[in-house]
Amino acid sequence: MIEIRDVNKWFGPFHALKNCSTQVEKGEVVVVCGPSGSGKSTLIKTVNALEPIQQGEIVVDGHSVHGGKTHLPRLRSRIGMVFQNFELFPHLSITSNLAIAQVKVLGREPDEARERGLRLLERVGLLAHKDKFPGQLSGGQQQRVAIARALSMDPIAMLFDEPTSALDPEMINEVLDVMVELALEGMTMMVVTHEMGFAKKVADRVIFMDAGEIVEDAKKDEFFGNPRSERAQAFLSKIL
Ligand code: ATP
Ligand code: MG
Repeated sequence: MIEIRDVNKWFGPFHALKNCSTQVEKGEVVVVCGPSGSGKSTLIKTVNALEPIQQGEIVVDGHSVHGGKTHLPRLRSRIGMVFQNFELFPHLSITSNLAIAQVKVLGREPDEARERGLRLLERVGLLAHKDKFPGQLSGGQQQRVAIARALSMDPIAMLFDEPTSALDPEMINEVLDVMVELALEGMTMMVVTHEMGFAKKVADRVIFMDAGEIVEDAKKDEFFGNPRSERAQAFLSKIL
């Protein structure tokens, strides 16, 4: 589903991704972790071309993302992305937040988009808030709306970049619960997170990055039971 092959990326002289290769199969959940500045956000953003790469190739669902031939808006509309800071449209109601991209990007009829949005809102437990504005919701609620909004586009895969790290502790679980449910339903997911409880529960594989390199890429049990690299061991001993 997602193939990352020998990717190198520089920000000016700074080598941010060094020969990164991995793949995410359909239905797989891959957690990406590692110290601050190791390149996790950069890697995940290259998957839907929010960041360009200078070497290597990324193929999503058979389309080369950085090849120039791929229609990027269409590809991006099919890869859901959820960030740390929700990024809902503050001036639109929750219902409109859920409908707008379906109408503008996918060309759905407004009524159909609204219906689909409301169904997803119900699924994340927020139907009662449909007429509010983002600023009237808690951080955890806003993040659940952001996930519902991404799902409204019928994505083939979902990318998450530290979706719970801006949340107060009591709101983290309500967002993780939605993500766990998605994972169990078979969504293909690439998730940057330090929530190792989430990783232990639903990840198939864990990628550990350090200084722009994928240092470890292992099945979950191997990663937690017997991390091979000293860098991963040191990281785990700090956060577990
Ligand atoms: P964090 O855990 O803090 O989110 P991260 O692993 O996501 O860290 P990235 O944001 O991918 O790290 O950044 C990797 C490196 O690339 C960092 O050293 C960062 O300073 C650098 N970097 C990121 N974006 C840019 C940019 N637009 N211009 C220059 N350097 C950048
Ligand atoms: Mg980051």
